[in-house]
Parts: sequence; C-alpha cells; structure tokens
Amino acid sequence: MNSAIPEIPSLFLDILLSQVDRMLGHRSLNRLLRRAGLTEFAGRLPPEDGTPGITVETWSNVLADIYDTFGAEAAQSVFLEAGRLAAVEVRRQQAPQWTITATALRLLPVERRIRLVLEGFAEQSEAAFGAPHYLYAGPDGYQVEIPDCPHCTEISRRCAAEQRRLDRPFCDIVAASLGETLEWALGRRCLVEEVSCIAAGQASCRFRFIP
Ligand SMILES: [Zn+2]
Repeated sequence: MNSAIPEIPSLFLDILLSQVDRMLGHRSLNRLLRRAGLTEFAGRLPPEDGTPGITVETWSNVLADIYDTFGAEAAQSVFLEAGRLAAVEVRRQQAPQWTITATALRLLPVERRIRLVLEGFAEQSEAAFGAPHYLYAGPDGYQVEIPDCPHCTEISRRCAAEQRRLDRPFCDIVAASLGETLEWALGRRCLVEEVSCIAAGQASCRFRFIP
C-alpha cells in the first residue's frame, strides 16, 4: 500500500458496512462488497477504531456504489444512520477530550456552545477526511461548508459522466453526524439541513443549523 495516500479511520467504513448489513441484509452487503471491490471485508468487517482503513477515494466510491446499487431512498436511510452512529463512536473513542469539552460546555451560553461544537466537528472531520471545512455564522444560523467534499466526489463524477443530476442532496452522512453532535451538546433534538450539494449541481456542500 502506498503510505503517501492518506487514509480515513477504519471505524467509518466499519459503521457504514454494518448499517448496510443491518438495514438491507447480508446479501445486499455482499453484493455491495463485490461491486466496490472490497470482498476482503466479506465475513470480516474492518476494525471499529482509528486505524487507517481506506483511502478517501475508496470511501467516496463505496458511498456512490450504495446509492447506485440500492437506490436513493435506501442509501439515504443508511447514510443517516451511519452518520449518526459515527458521531457517537468518534466521541466515545476520544472520551477524555470529549469529557473535558462536555464539562466546559455546560457552563457556556447556548450560542457559544453551538459555535464550539461546530468548530470541533469541522476540525475533527477535516482531519479524518483530509478536506477543508469552513464555518460561517449567518443571519439564519451557522453553516459548515465543504468545498471539496470527500463524500460526494465519486457520485458527482458519475453524474457528470452520465449526464444525470441528483434531485436532492447526497451527503446525508455529514448532516446526520453534525445533527447528532449538536444534540449531544444541547441536549435536545437538532436538525441539520444540507442546503447545497456538489452532487446536486451546486458549487460546494453546505450544511445549515438553525438554533
Ligand atoms: Zn458532498
């Protein structure tokens, strides 16, 4: 393996494949693994930890394969659940850092808490996926922008090559992770909407949270 190519933590792939298995069935998982050229994981999913797993390119391929194999609706369900679980698992594995954060957060006003959590999320996601994330505070809430989104690269490429366009945003996995992290910090239900997505023809992937 070429060590110059950065790899994303293994737990993301483990959680994603586990959700395909759980929600769509074992045969679907095997079908996906064959299509994605990842049969090494049939019967033995990657470890659920921070060890380097797959390249960002492979990650984006698997997401596109899930979409193209099982359809938009099934893919969305898998992405939402995988995103939520990944946020929980990352926090659990980095427990000491998050415990300090949680204690400090409780003392802060809500607005400041939201900002800190979004900054932390952007930083963590940037490190895991090797793509810059930007945080903006606008009149209608905070937005996280990912101009070179590592999740929808491959589906966007396929759409361009096949002259199709998705009629809704693709990167539910990010929206769900962000939503879960905010819920944890604020102790209430939080909805994050992907307001623009490269896969749907827009210039960048942007996620909005209305406090
Ligand atoms: Zn995207």
